[in-house]
Amino acid sequence: MDASVIKNDLEKVLLTKEEIQDKIKELAAQIDADYKGKDLLVVGVLKGAVMVMADLLRAMESHITMDWMAVSSYGSGTQSSGVVRILKDLDTDLMGRDVLIVEDIIDSGLTLSWMKANFESRGPASVEICTLLRKPDAAKSDLDVKYVGFDIPNEFVVGFGLDFAEKYRNLDCIGTLAPHVYQ
Ligand code: 5GP
Ligand code: MG
Ligand code: MG
Repeated sequence: MDASVIKNDLEKVLLTKEEIQDKIKELAAQIDADYKGKDLLVVGVLKGAVMVMADLLRAMESHITMDWMAVSSYGSGTQSSGVVRILKDLDTDLMGRDVLIVEDIIDSGLTLSWMKANFESRGPASVEICTLLRKPDAAKSDLDVKYVGFDIPNEFVVGFGLDFAEKYRNLDCIGTLAPHVYQ
């Protein structure tokens, strides 16, 4: 048995700490190359993207500036409604800026579609999206995601920023929860 209390709640590990870190380094190198000489603003979507942001930005070798946005996309159910409420807006004026939105996971893609359109209305030079994880529905949607870490099966996952009832965000790996956790 793993000595980690939180890891004992996992049924299976989908992505190990090493796999996640290797992928984040790859993404960082691509982003560094693509935005060479530009003044990139990276926007993390709270709270899920905290871990991806921290590791992605530390793996980058160019200057960046960082901002955060908090939105609520879920109503009472567990499905995205597409109705998005801004809980914390950006501190930064997007006019003329190259913007990269960083997300933990894209499921239906509705939240990000809304956010991208919202950002585009603020006069930026460009808006692109980077997500660590993407589920099949998002892969089928017409949301254009420039940087994708992993396409994963349609299962509920936790860890590396992703929560279940606000827990498990601090896991260094990503996995599915064991049935006893739900009961
Ligand atoms: P979308 O609008 O793309 O359907 O919603 C994306 C948001 O739903 C993510 O930012 C995340 O908060 C939540 N979400 C979607 N799938 C999962 C999952 O498998 N695990 C967790 N913990 N959250 C998820
Ligand atoms: Mg998120
Ligand atoms: Mg959540």
